[in-house]
Order: sequence, then structure tokens, then C-alpha cells
Amino acid sequence: MNKLAECYRGKAKTIYTTDDKNFVILKFRDDISILDGMYIKKIARKGMINNQFNYFIMNKLSQLGIPTQIEKLLSHNETLVKKLDMIPVELVLRNRAAGSIVKRLGIDNGTILDPPLLDLFFKNDSMHDPMINDSYCTTFGWVSKLNLVTMKKLTYQVNNILSKLFDNAGIILVDFKLEFGLYNNAIIIGDEFSPDVSRLWDKTTLKNMDKDILRKNLGGLIEAYEEVANRIGVNLH
Ligand code: UDP
Repeated sequence: MNKLAECYRGKAKTIYTTDDKNFVILKFRDDISILDGMYIKKIARKGMINNQFNYFIMNKLSQLGIPTQIEKLLSHNETLVKKLDMIPVELVLRNRAAGSIVKRLGIDNGTILDPPLLDLFFKNDSMHDPMINDSYCTTFGWVSKLNLVTMKKLTYQVNNILSKLFDNAGIILVDFKLEFGLYNNAIIIGDEFSPDVSRLWDKTTLKNMDKDILRKNLGGLIEAYEEVANRIGVNLH
């Protein structure tokens, strides 16, 4: 599989076409963004860590029957994936209250949410990813009712699998965001799963081991990402 041209440059990843129209290459850069991309910073080793972290998680999910776009780890910071027709809706699963829900509802940070909450957001940086619900998806034709049901079901399944995986590593999976796309009319998980798109707290100290380290300007972000990777068994190289 040969890498051809850059076809999309996001906030932290660049996508390249290949000589097979069904596959693209995801390159994880060292960039990290907050505030809807208004603030982007370079952090050495982040691309390498997130690429291998994402591959590890997606591979685990695939092995358990969850459809993901992952195909092959190509290099320290590149992965070959299926080319999806992306759906502009982000699904956020929350096991504990943190971030926007704390601000919106005024509940205590860390409150256990049982059963977990599932929020939908319209993927649109210039509109700051507004919160939506099922009827918006149908009315604006972003995703069909049936496909949305599948996306929600898969998000809960991913939560069950990953909550256990992180718990075994002494980490609480507080919340995470998933994106989906269509491949031959089937719903597939796309984008990434990494500490950039999830909240991960140490079970004992409750310290942040995710992008909140940057949002709160705490320092030690890459060391925390590396520690999470090591604890869950990602073999970084
Ligand atoms: N998230 C994300 N991309 C977004 C919005 C949220 O990856 O555009 C992730 C975020 O890192 C967290 C979860 O989704 O793990 C819930 O985010 P929240 O709604 O609390 O918003 P935030 O606090 O990030 O503004």
C-alpha cells in the first residue's frame, strides 16, 4: 500500500490517500488542541503514543467483534484504516460527571452516573460542537434512525469493554467520545480512542491522566499518557 497525497489535515491527525481507494493512512502528529482548535500546541512523542494507543484499543475492540476502521499499524505514528464516509455526530458516554456536564448542570465533579449518560453533539468547530438529540439527526439527515441506534449500542458495548480494561489497570474511564462512519453501508467506529478524547483518572488518587492536564495547565501530560499506555499493556516503540 503506497501513501499518495494529503487529503485532510485535522487538529491532531493528517489523512493521506493510498493507491487503494478503500483505505487511507492516519498520521498522528505531535499537535494537541484545546478550545475547539483555537489553541494548538506541539508535544513531543504525543503522535507516536496516541497512534499506538489507538491501535491497541481499536484492535482489542475489533477482536471482540466491534467494527472499527483499523487495518494495520504502519509505523510509530501511522496506521492504515478503512476509508469511511464520516457521520458528523459525536457520541459522548459519561460514567462520571466531568467537564461540560458539570458546568451545564452544576453537579459535583466525579459524581457517578448510573446508568451512564450518552450525549450527542454536532461535529462543527465553528459552532463549538453544539449539543443535539436524535431528532436533529433525522431532520437534518446526518444519520438514519436505525444507524443511530447501532451507534449508541456500540458505544455502550465499547464502554463495557474499556471500563473493565482500564479498571484492571487502576484507571477510571470517566468519559469518552466516539465518532462513526459508513463503510459499504455498515456503521464502523472511526477517528481515534486516546487520552485526547477521553477522561482517565487514577483510581487511587483521582489524578487526571488525559487531555484535562493541558486544559488545566497541570504539566506532565506526555508522562501521564505514557503511564496509561504502559499500565494497559501498549508496547510503545
Ligand atoms: N471530547 C472530544 N472532542 C470534543 C468534545 C469532547 O474528544 O470535541 C471528549 C472530551 O475529551 C471528554 C468527553 O468527550 O473526554 C466529554 O467532553 P465534555 O462534553 O465534557 O466537553 P469538554 O469538557 O471537553 O469541553
